Formats: sequence, structure tokens, C-alpha cells
Amino acid sequence: MTDRKQLKDKKRIVIKVGSSTITYPETGTINYAKLEKLVRIIADIRNMGKEAVLVSSGAIAVGRHAIGLNEKPKTLSCKQACAAIGQAALMTVYKKLFSEYNYNCAQILLTKYTFMQDESYMNACNTLNELLSMGVIPIVNENDTVSTAEIEIGDNDSLSAYVSSMIHGDLLILLSDIDGLYTDDPRHNKNAEFISVVEKLDDNIFEMAKGAGSDVGTGGMHTKIHAALMATKSGTDMVIINGDDVENIRAVMNGEEKGTLFVANKDDNFDFRKL
Ligand code: GLU
Repeated sequence: MTDRKQLKDKKRIVIKVGSSTITYPETGTINYAKLEKLVRIIADIRNMGKEAVLVSSGAIAVGRHAIGLNEKPKTLSCKQACAAIGQAALMTVYKKLFSEYNYNCAQILLTKYTFMQDESYMNACNTLNELLSMGVIPIVNENDTVSTAEIEIGDNDSLSAYVSSMIHGDLLILLSDIDGLYTDDPRHNKNAEFISVVEKLDDNIFEMAKGAGSDVGTGGMHTKIHAALMATKSGTDMVIINGDDVENIRAVMNGEEKGTLFVANKDDNFDFRKL
């Protein structure tokens, strides 16, 4: 069995928050109280001498509500316009909150293209490493204003796995709208059982994740398991926790039994850029 206490010693932490975690489900607008807590926890992680990268969704959700659009944008140009509006709005809030704790944050926008091309890959990797060594908190999102089907990653669960694989993160924490992985979708099956640790990611696990999704964000449990495959094969432990209570991040880092832990299983022949 993996000892959860080992998570206390992780140094380079990547945290992914979804749109459903940082916005109110009723209105789709930013949940400032939760964002404030999240920023405080990340500032604290830095104060512990660790490094933190935040992968934050919410650009499209925040942008569409800023212009009074009540449903998900239907056309690509509308989605991209919403992302442009929302990304700026989100960064403004993050910058304000991080500055209260004397931390700088920086915006990093990536697409799949960044990972496919050697030169842009190296540039993104170097920039992220430089920011971390400066003590800055990089805030990553997909560059939704330019990404189209051919070059999009499409969901930030996968994006966060790409990022943590690129910078050799020690721990990837995904905040979800569910406690972790169940044997079946607990919203539809009362008998679904919670799984605390996944030591081996096989077809059985992918089968369990079928169907469980979110109304607000893009990813469901399936994309999270896919992210887990990439992260664990790259040598990163990954935990899925419920983002309803962002204090769960602290609990995981204290070695408590929270969420589902996917144990790192480094495969030296695995190239995440080819997955
Ligand atoms: N990049 C999208 C956004 O910021 C979200 C993708 C996702 O929810 O996974 O709105």
C-alpha cells in the first residue's frame, strides 16, 4: 500500500481547478470566497518552500456571464470571444488576490500545438521553470481564443497532466465536483463504492469512470482518468478531490486520506507528448 504520508514531502505541486469549482452553479459567476481560500492555500504552499502551478479553467464560463449569455456558447467564434473576455477577468481577480499575500502570478496560455512542436515546447517549459525559480505562481489555461479542433487539448484535466509531465511535477491535484473515483457514477447508482487508492490503472478503472461528467466544465471522470494515466506514467502522483472544500488540498498535502490517489508508476519508455 502507498503511504499517504509521503505526499507531505512533495515539492512541485500542480493544482487544477475546474469551472464548476470556481463559479457558483446557479449563476455561473465567480465564487470569490472560494477563490480567496484557494489563493491563500497556494500562497501557503509557497511559504512552505514548495512550488505551485495553478491550472485554472473558467475563462469561457466567466466570459459568457460577463456578457449575459445564459447558455454555453454555440459557435467557435462566440466561445473564443467569451474566453478572451473571461480570461482577462479571471487573471485580474487572481492578480489582486495573490498580491494580498505578496506573490506575483503570471499567465501562461498553451495549446496542444505548444506540446507538439519542439521549439514551443522548450520555450513553454523554460518559461515555467524560470517563473517557479522566481517564486512566481504560473496560472495556466488553454489558449481558447486561438485553439481549434486540430490544435486543442480540449479539457483542462488533460492540460494539467501535460503541464505536470512537462515540468516533472511531483504531485498533481485535480479539484472536481465529486469526491474522487467510485466504482460507478454515484449520482445514478446508490451502491457505487468509493475508491481511495488506484495502484494500477487498467481498463477496469476506465470502465468505472464512464458517464460521470460535469454540467459546467468540459471534463468528466473519463478525462480525469486519462489525465491520471499520463501523470502516473510520467512519474507524478495524482489525487482527485472534491473542490467544494478547497481545504481538501491542505488535507491531501498533510497526508490525510482524502480523495482518490493514483500512484505514480513511471514508465521510462512513455512519451506523454505522443499519447
Ligand atoms: N479552458 C476552458 C476555460 O477556461 C475550460 C476547459 C475545461 O473546463 O476543462 O473555460
